[in-house]
Amino acid sequence: MSAQPILPAREIWRARARIAGRVCRTPLVAAPSLSALTGGEVLLKLETLQETGAFKLRGATNHLLALDPTRRARGVVTMSTGNHGRAVATAAARLGIRAVVCMSALVPENKVAAVRAAGGEARIIGTSQDEAAVEAARLVVEEGMTLVPPFDDPWVVAGQGTIGLELLEDAPDLDCVMVPLSGGGLAGGIALALKTADPAIEIVGLSTTRCPAMAASLEAGCPVEVPEEPSLADSLGGGIGLDNRLTFDLVRRHVDCVRLVGEEAIAAGMRHLFLEEGIVTEGAAAIGAAALLTDPAAFAGKRVAVVVSGRNVDMDAFRRIVGGTAA
Ligand SMILES: *Cc1c(COP(=O)(O)O)cnc(C)c1O
Repeated sequence: MSAQPILPAREIWRARARIAGRVCRTPLVAAPSLSALTGGEVLLKLETLQETGAFKLRGATNHLLALDPTRRARGVVTMSTGNHGRAVATAAARLGIRAVVCMSALVPENKVAAVRAAGGEARIIGTSQDEAAVEAARLVVEEGMTLVPPFDDPWVVAGQGTIGLELLEDAPDLDCVMVPLSGGGLAGGIALALKTADPAIEIVGLSTTRCPAMAASLEAGCPVEVPEEPSLADSLGGGIGLDNRLTFDLVRRHVDCVRLVGEEAIAAGMRHLFLEEGIVTEGAAAIGAAALLTDPAAFAGKRVAVVVSGRNVDMDAFRRIVGGTAA
């Protein structure tokens, strides 16, 4: 393995200078109920309070600000109808950039409405994610629009990595940071920031057992696909891309271990954060608390920060989950 960094850590500092004042610097708060469980100190990084309800506004804003005027004038495109799509649409609208979100006709109406409400242009095409991807590629080639990838992109990773800088400032004595892990933009960026500051800080990635694409790829030594089943942590779905260029390597180098978390534990994490700490989370964001509740001994006596990544959850489903009537 070459010692050459695949993404210089200073890109995270550049991102921070770019996005300063345009995204929230979110609070790091104590979680007494979880601290009592581990006998250490557990802190929560509340990206639930980020505008658009998830951390993805950081990476999207950094990517758009890095574009030159010609590219900005031609607009940007994405296929995500989830937190990334919402973030791209919001950041673009603010900068006066046109943003097209390509999606299949099967995407539920409330998601289409959310994209439009955020200022994005919903382009409904075909009946599969693949057809939406073909249309996005066409817009890039034929209309010169810029694709903003959800995770495998240096500007996106650097933007998410600004969370790591904030953690270091607010809690310089951290032993361990727990990060939800899907495509690896979030964990890759945070791990790069923290490991550059001190390689002794332990980084734990958390994925759902329903879609362990990064864990399987790490085991295989290269990006692989896994079958995916629906999960409460819907924001942790999707693969890492067989042609992954950046996040697989970043995670392999800088994330110390990946833990897989099951559905019941995720539901318990959501319930715990709401009932004990008063925080509304989506499934993906509760996965760190879920891992702590499942295996507190692994974190005994440590000073731990848990990245609570977002709060975009269907409220009827949320009520059922925290009410304990659904796992
Ligand atoms: C996107 C997302 C994640 C996972 O981020 P990756 O960069 O894909 O690993 C975790 N939580 C929430 C709420 C997300 O929207």
